Amino acid sequence: MTIQEDSVLGPEVIKICRQLYNKGLIAASDGNVSVRLSEGDILITPGGVHKGFLHEEDLVLVSSEGHVLKGRGRPSSELAMHMAIYRQDPRAMAIVHTHPPWTLALSLSGDQLSPHLLIEGLMFLGEVSMVPFEMPGTEALVSAVVNALHKGPVQILAHHGAVTRGPTLWKAFELMECLEHTCRIKALAKLLGEPRALPLNIVQSCQI
Ligand SMILES: [Zn+2]
Repeated sequence: MTIQEDSVLGPEVIKICRQLYNKGLIAASDGNVSVRLSEGDILITPGGVHKGFLHEEDLVLVSSEGHVLKGRGRPSSELAMHMAIYRQDPRAMAIVHTHPPWTLALSLSGDQLSPHLLIEGLMFLGEVSMVPFEMPGTEALVSAVVNALHKGPVQILAHHGAVTRGPTLWKAFELMECLEHTCRIKALAKLLGEPRALPLNIVQSCQI
């Protein structure tokens, strides 16, 4: 990633936050988004602030050790979770955390979200891992998330939300959008009757 690309990431974080709000994936001061810059510093949304109406000056720049380098607010209370994910997964360059309603509704109803019923979910999302409940902003939540990272880039935090990560901010956003979209369809199908599974040979061929 070049320095020039770094300079566009602030505006992109703002754009993504507005999309997350407009799509109903976050409300009030929910959620947080971060990107890893080329030198390892992290640009993250501030805590306790509505993400739908952020300005670039609101973003907080922190070092890879977590020291605030720039920004008028405090970094997200989930900064430790973002930092731990970046430390554990060198390919992760962006993280999106939201409270997606359809995804959480399915999860709260006991649905494990896997196996996928839609080919898009199967091919694009891969395994959706379920992270046991821990209080937000705690070391226990950080550990629980880190323990499930090996399963894939899409995680559900029980009774709380979802976390996606990717090599770009747009990829992390698309994973979140796809997760919520496929969960919405699955939830609607369950309301209408018993959803049909994907053919087993298709599921097996995509898992190889
Ligand atoms: Zn949250």
